[in-house]
Amino acid sequence: MTIPAIFLAYVVLLLAALTGVGIYSEMRRRDFKPSPSEDRIFRCPDCGYVYTDDPDVDRSRCSQCGKLNEAIEF
Ligand SMILES: [Zn+2]
Repeated sequence: MTIPAIFLAYVVLLLAALTGVGIYSEMRRRDFKPSPSEDRIFRCPDCGYVYTDDPDVDRSRCSQCGKLNEAIEF
């Protein structure tokens, strides 16, 4: 093996590794897309504050003014 051949092989391997890392991170990024949250959404009619709470609560207290609010149903 000549020096240029070794150098070329090194560059090709490096590019292949970088491409692999790029594809891998792209796949990771796609997997990481925000999954639809199960949390309930509340909107306080008094102060207009929008917040979420656990899906098993029907009413949640507004953290801004303390008013109990019903969950928004879609
Ligand atoms: Zn409020």
